Amino acid sequence: MDFPLSKRLSLLPPYLFKEIDALKSELKKSGADVINLGVGDPDLPTPPHIVEALRKAALNPANHQYALDNGKQTLREACAAYYKTRFGVTLDPNTEIMPLLGSKEGIGHIHLAFVNPGDIVLVPEPGYPVYHSGTLFADAETYYMPLKEENDYLPDLDAIPEEIAQRAKMMFLCYPNNPIAVTAPLSFYKKALDFAKKYNIIIAHDAAYADVYYDGIKPHSFLEVEGAKEYCVEYYSLSKTYNMTGWRVAFAVGNPSLVAGLSRIKGNLDSGIFGAVQDAAVEALTGDQSWREELLRTYQERRDALVKGLQALGCPVKPSQAAFYVWAPVPKGMTSKETTMKLLKEAAVVATPGNGFGPSGEGYIRMTLTAPKERLLEAVERIKKLNIYK
Ligand code: PLP
Repeated sequence: MDFPLSKRLSLLPPYLFKEIDALKSELKKSGADVINLGVGDPDLPTPPHIVEALRKAALNPANHQYALDNGKQTLREACAAYYKTRFGVTLDPNTEIMPLLGSKEGIGHIHLAFVNPGDIVLVPEPGYPVYHSGTLFADAETYYMPLKEENDYLPDLDAIPEEIAQRAKMMFLCYPNNPIAVTAPLSFYKKALDFAKKYNIIIAHDAAYADVYYDGIKPHSFLEVEGAKEYCVEYYSLSKTYNMTGWRVAFAVGNPSLVAGLSRIKGNLDSGIFGAVQDAAVEALTGDQSWREELLRTYQERRDALVKGLQALGCPVKPSQAAFYVWAPVPKGMTSKETTMKLLKEAAVVATPGNGFGPSGEGYIRMTLTAPKERLLEAVERIKKLNIYK
């Protein structure tokens, strides 16, 4: 018996990377030396002091039981201390912080707490697909806000029709942005907050890449804006900051009613983060941070190698401001898909077609910096031989 999928699941957009994935597997099977710049997952390991904290905490029987209480008090306090030091934002550990099993689940679940069928959710595109999946799962409608180069890749809030704004319940924003690798100025956050106030809209700000940045220019938290806590919930993740994608630990911060709503949904769906992972997350957030300078230097070297290499070929790519991605324009006369397929078939380099993140991503490919510098340079050499940027 092949059971039919629910309507909401079949409404999900088709998986655009199927063909690329199949070709990639075929190439790998054939023994080709594939350079994978498709997946945004840190290649470097979690630092030993965090792993050691997990090892010790795993021996504690108290950690073997359900992890209830909205996460451990120690973790919520560590999150608050981190936000204070990093962003100058004061948070109440008891009401304004909710630990998550990675920010993805918190992003995908918040709709269920606040969005009703037929409501509109404002979603940036190109963007992380989960904003839209969550909207579909809540039987709501997505209104896409294009991110265009001429607007510095910020949504044009004035272009949102009045009737859409009136029906909107929530707006997702993501800075530093995946896939575009740009940051947003505080002036934009202020403008978005004014919009939220005018139409009574929740702002869900995805700050998963807040601590992967270049040239020493630190991205802001949305909560740095005065009054933001009235309207905003922000997602911070340990995944990218601490090379901890596999551990599944992140947290939502901001407006107490938003945090409480999310917590209520989660209370019905999961039973918390493994206590030992929570203890290790405390070590990550409050322990030695000096190693992160080295991590940022590594990403910066990689970014410079790939961006300069592509520019030397004639690709008008701009240096990434943050996140470990490079958002590169495709050669003239080619589409995003044609470019990725050519790179894959003729250079064994995996990149992601920009339109896979939304129609405004057409004309770009996304390449990740989660591979050693030598591999990035090798990728540039292989692309050079294709002679597609003239
Ligand atoms: N937000 C963005 C923009 C991402 O790219 C990702 C993961 O790639 C996430 C959130 C989810 O990260 P995690 O669930 O590991 O915290």
